[in-house]
Amino acid sequence: MTLKPRFLLLTAALILVASAAAWLAFERIAAGIIEQWGVRLAETQVRYDTARLLQPLDREIALSRQLADSQVIRRWALNPTDKELETEALAEMESFRRNFQDRSYFVALLDSGAYYHNNAADEFSGQQLRYYLKPDKPADSWFYQIVAQGRDFHLNVNPDEELKVTKLWIDVLIRDGDRILGVAGTGLELDRFIRDIVRVKQPGITTLFADHNGAIQLYRDPRYIDFASIVKREGEKNTVFRMVDTEADRQHLQQAMLELARAPAVAADEGSRVISRFVKVEGREYLAGIAYLPEIDWYEITLLDLDVLMPVKSFASVLVIFAITLLAALALFNLVLNRLVLDPVSALETAMLRVRDGDLTPLELPRGKGEIGRLIGHFSNMAEAVRSHTRELEHRVAERTEALHRLASIDPLTGLHNRRGLNERLEAEISRALREQHTFGLIWIDIDLFKEINDYLGHAMGDEALAAVGRLLTASIRPYDCAARWGGDEFLVLLSPCDLDTLSSLSERIRSGVERSIELPGDNGLTVSIGACLAYPGDSLETILHRADQALYKAKAEGRNRLCVSGQHAVIN
Ligand code: GH3
Ligand code: MG
Repeated sequence: MTLKPRFLLLTAALILVASAAAWLAFERIAAGIIEQWGVRLAETQVRYDTARLLQPLDREIALSRQLADSQVIRRWALNPTDKELETEALAEMESFRRNFQDRSYFVALLDSGAYYHNNAADEFSGQQLRYYLKPDKPADSWFYQIVAQGRDFHLNVNPDEELKVTKLWIDVLIRDGDRILGVAGTGLELDRFIRDIVRVKQPGITTLFADHNGAIQLYRDPRYIDFASIVKREGEKNTVFRMVDTEADRQHLQQAMLELARAPAVAADEGSRVISRFVKVEGREYLAGIAYLPEIDWYEITLLDLDVLMPVKSFASVLVIFAITLLAALALFNLVLNRLVLDPVSALETAMLRVRDGDLTPLELPRGKGEIGRLIGHFSNMAEAVRSHTRELEHRVAERTEALHRLASIDPLTGLHNRRGLNERLEAEISRALREQHTFGLIWIDIDLFKEINDYLGHAMGDEALAAVGRLLTASIRPYDCAARWGGDEFLVLLSPCDLDTLSSLSERIRSGVERSIELPGDNGLTVSIGACLAYPGDSLETILHRADQALYKAKAEGRNRLCVSGQHAVIN
């Protein structure tokens, strides 16, 4: 794998890990915020509902207490057979009836079980004594339970079988000191309460009220209401504890209710205390806000479905933003990585491969930043050094080759061209003569009786004589002419361009120059024989050499120390 996918994978992995951590943290914080919000909402909801429930109830409870406390009622309850007291009591009841919201009341006397009642329609005017309660009649057991429990005040949800209505009854004991005389109170139609308070339209919020045993008293679904709780035994009651799924939740609820009963208010003026607990109902988790209403000895329990109230969907935009940010970060990282690292590194690699393959032409490299920039800078400098070293080496090799070539065509003793050097010049000259249609001259020089010099004066002196002839030749010719040692004591001079006159005069100058200027030890002189000829366009090397050689042969044959110039065909002396 190349660097790029590795980097991208690594970055994606790092971003994902970091994001997962951030998401977890976010979820925790969000859950915390939602919980706090839920607790606040539960508190607000509970207080609001409590106030709504208590507002109409408070008045009815106060009136019920007044009725039960009424002197007239108590006096009559002590003497129920006294007709005068009964008339007064009934008048008192009727005046309370007009004040009760339900425009109905009941008064039940313990001793006789007499049950007095009238309703909003004034249906039972004159017949307020409706019937007699009996301890052995199940429908009447609520009365005997209240009396037995001795609770001054009690709210009871109970169907009135006689009247065929389900009511929230406010029951207050009529007492004379410690003696219980009966129960008085009023009823409120349950449907109205359910409609107003517990049938909250807001989705995700469920409100219910339970009595001190946890028996459900008000709930949006009347089927769950534990009617006539007071007369039921433990275990038969429809309680909130049955609603929750786990034993732990049940204990939490019970604990919360006990705590609230001990200290129902936060502080003197701060209203109901609300305890919040997470509970599971039918597999769903709810935040339960629980408050105690000491006025009616009930608990309000508000169940908040946080998933409905604050659905996770509402965080979808966060997820989208997160995904976009992730993609943008990857794209940006890819761009920056390409710009700052991968593109310069790739260009550098191409340049390195070119240098490796011997391509030394300068390459335009991108200008990187930081370490990459320095790397590119170092490579450029290194490539430039390699380039200049290579150029220098090539230059030196060319120089050496040139020197070797020169050495190969130079005669070391005289410093003149050797046979090889002259051959090259001659071939070039033959081509040029043909091209430019001109003649050139060739002079063949051979030292006379050179063997004798060697023999009598020694080989070294022979060499010196050869060198002296070389020097004289160099001094005699024009810069563009060429003198060479052909071998042994023979020299050739190439004159280009040249006519017959020039050829003759220069040859003669050489011959006389040698005779005149080169001296050998023991007063011995040195002479040369010269054969010269002109070369014409189209002549071959052999032809020209042969012509010159013939002229030289003639000069030797004619007694040496002389010049023989050959035209194309004739030999001119
Ligand atoms: P001729 O007048 O007919 O030319 O007589 P010659 O003695 O010069 O005869 P030739 O030209 O044939 O002799 C050439 C001699 O030159 C033979 C050889 O010993 C001598 N020689 C050849 N090369 C060298 C050299 O490098 N140094 C010396 N000292 N002598 C050389
Ligand atoms: Mg000779």
